[in-house]
Amino acid sequence: MAAPWEDVLRNEAAIQEAAAVAVDAALLEGVLMRTEREPNASDVVNFAPFTLLPSAVPSALFEQAYAVQQDFNLLVDAISQNKEFLEHTLASTIKVDDFTAQLFRIHMQVLEEGLAQSVFLGINRSDYMFDCGVDGTPALKQIEINTIAASFGGLTSRTAAVHGRVLKVLGKSEEASRLLPNNPSKGLALGIAKAWELYGSQSAVVMFLVEEVQRNIFDQRCVENELWNRNIRVIRKRFRDVFEKGSLDDAKRLYMNGQEVAVVYYREGYVPKNYDQQNWEARLLLERSRAVKCPDIATQLAGTKKVQQELSRPGMLERLLPGHTEAIARIRATFAGLYSLDMGEEGDKIAATAIADPDRFVLKPQREGGGNNLYGEELRQVLEKIRDSPERTSYILMDKIKPQPAMNYLLRAHSPLQVSECISELGIFGVYVRQDKEMVMNKAAGHLLRTKAIEHADGGVAAGVAVLDSPYLV
Ligand code: ADP
Ligand code: MG
Repeated sequence: MAAPWEDVLRNEAAIQEAAAVAVDAALLEGVLMRTEREPNASDVVNFAPFTLLPSAVPSALFEQAYAVQQDFNLLVDAISQNKEFLEHTLASTIKVDDFTAQLFRIHMQVLEEGLAQSVFLGINRSDYMFDCGVDGTPALKQIEINTIAASFGGLTSRTAAVHGRVLKVLGKSEEASRLLPNNPSKGLALGIAKAWELYGSQSAVVMFLVEEVQRNIFDQRCVENELWNRNIRVIRKRFRDVFEKGSLDDAKRLYMNGQEVAVVYYREGYVPKNYDQQNWEARLLLERSRAVKCPDIATQLAGTKKVQQELSRPGMLERLLPGHTEAIARIRATFAGLYSLDMGEEGDKIAATAIADPDRFVLKPQREGGGNNLYGEELRQVLEKIRDSPERTSYILMDKIKPQPAMNYLLRAHSPLQVSECISELGIFGVYVRQDKEMVMNKAAGHLLRTKAIEHADGGVAAGVAVLDSPYLV
């Protein structure tokens, strides 16, 4: 993709001026993060890292990503209700991956007890890159779908205004007017509000379950504010608070300090380091409750890398979404090659192929949050070491997606201004609400574009690698 800003990219004076305006605009608009030094205080905050210029995104692929989001919502929801599929798919993983195994144990325990929850709320983000084929035509390929704690819907609701200002300063008012409106925080809040309403208790609250370290609090506050604007009370608690103050009554209604909780929105609980023994007990208490969990534990499991890989097997989507022929075609068109490393001939063969040609693949463990995947020489070494051991089943292999880089400036606090060769990842937020068997809401709620320098193979914004961006459709 040719960068639409070639004419200004090397104009140092113009770029310097625009960068100063950009940073102030980000602070004014609220594109904020707490600092690494004081992650739990708002006395001193900084702008969240972002690109100086919006990045070019092919409009056809952008539309394709929006068009498939309701299908992905349906799919995730269907998987979460399919006990046999989850059991069968995760059987090999839970033998070697303790974290997935522990989630799975809670899932089974809750099912055995009988679900108390009847309203279900899903907030996910499906992430894509634009794979550059041999003939140079870009194709939309899914990286993964995040079914728990998908972040940056708040801050990204404010980045288009910043980029609009930058373009105007650079003499590009026409282009500025073409930037798309985007407000995921409102869309996410509408989903939470709907679930709250269906839960049916005016006095009950929405509980944001948050991490001990809360650098990204402003992103969450954007969603929180939308709920307060609708007169829905929000509390912020940690697993530790739930362990100490949480309880269930006879009808499994959840109470925090005597206050009824209608919806639990997890911005926590997606990686092993979020849990100690007490936190696992708190998680179990939440899952057993009648409160609407966003997501419930089955939906979290539906977002594992192992599930993603199994979905790409021929016939699997047809089994999960019978009768949805068109939705299946739209979903499948976004799949890159995905391969199981389960023990057996199929796994042996793909492991050998990847060892011989590591640059074709990405090796992924069952982890979230960025920085866990293996590439190139490291992929080869690790795979060589574990190729004959069941340990290999804790990973999946995926075709490496190769987007066309474009030049941009990544603005970070305390970093020099320099031009970088960059690639972008587009995320679409999905929101749905189901009451018993009936879907009462199914929407795409906005987008997130993240961009990183090509020297980083892995990692998101929170991991300090990617930065916030806005799509400029071409
Ligand atoms: P996580 O759950 O850690 O976010 P992802 O699957 O999103 O895991 O991978 C993290 C990052 O690694 C992505 O944001 C992307 O930059 C890169 N990545 C993942 N899969 C691929 C792939 N198949 N090809 C190229 N890059 C990839
Ligand atoms: Mg990711």
